Amino acid sequence: MPSIAILATGGTIASEKQPGADGLMPTAPADTLVTGLEDAFANVGAHVETRQILSIDSMAITFDDMKVMLRQTLATLDAGFDAVVITHGTDTIEETALYLDAILPDKCTVIMTGAMRASTQLGADGQRNVLDSVVAAAALCGKQVGVCVVMNGRVFAAWDVEKAHTTGVDAFRAPQGGVVGEVNELRFVPVGRPMPPYPKIGGGGDVASVELIRCVASASDVLIRAAVDAGVRGLIIEGLGGGHVPPVMVPALLDAMHRNMVVVVTSRTGSGLPLRAMYQATGAEIYLRRHGVLFSRLSGPKARILLGLVLAANHDPASVFVD
Ligand code: ASP
Repeated sequence: MPSIAILATGGTIASEKQPGADGLMPTAPADTLVTGLEDAFANVGAHVETRQILSIDSMAITFDDMKVMLRQTLATLDAGFDAVVITHGTDTIEETALYLDAILPDKCTVIMTGAMRASTQLGADGQRNVLDSVVAAAALCGKQVGVCVVMNGRVFAAWDVEKAHTTGVDAFRAPQGGVVGEVNELRFVPVGRPMPPYPKIGGGGDVASVELIRCVASASDVLIRAAVDAGVRGLIIEGLGGGHVPPVMVPALLDAMHRNMVVVVTSRTGSGLPLRAMYQATGAEIYLRRHGVLFSRLSGPKARILLGLVLAANHDPASVFVD
């Protein structure tokens, strides 16, 4: 029987509205996540224990908090648990999932989940997501699929999953095919095994300073110059279309690279691969690649974390961002 530890960090899945309060707060203790699920866990054939490691909304999650999750996950697996389920706010779950996926060895089975509706709201989805996560964790033990996020019966790969709706219980998607499977009637059904488009970074979980800047029509270079002045080590530019940057931003980007900052361009479109060799104007992919800009199919927030890990671990960014 697999033994599974649930590490609770807060978020809506742990939120409740206290009498007299204006709104939800993540105050429910970890054991309430599993109250009443004992028979279901027995049916799944899993031994489940809970641990409280944080109690915050995910808008407040920092890299230090991610490091706490990393260390607690490793300690829990070292203590003999077969898999870990981390409950987390949904707003930034996709970023913590990427962080853990890039660092943890594939042999670690880690599932992340959350809820779109709190336990005190009608139609609460938290316990269902916890149960589905336990099903997925039990099925994926030792399968080397990397960190996954389970929401609304679907199992998503960490590198691709993103929140795409503000309130719906079906709020998550994997726009580049990163669906690992589904959970149906307490059964995990595999769909694919999409591997991440990056190697394991490993390391202790430190993240170097990297800023994310989105391209828009009629842009300026103000934010790039501010990031250069602040001395950050890398820049993620969420480019237009296939990875294009308004020409007005280009001199500032080249200046940043002359100061040894690493620049990676992603696409603000939300899906698809970056272009390689179609357009050549200033700011288009041919021009940028010739000047040493790197490209990534990851979303901007995920690419920012990956570049931060790469720089902190002193890996060569060009060997990781290969799109
Ligand atoms: N407030 C929440 C968070 O911590 C939203 C959620 O969990 O769905 O991200």
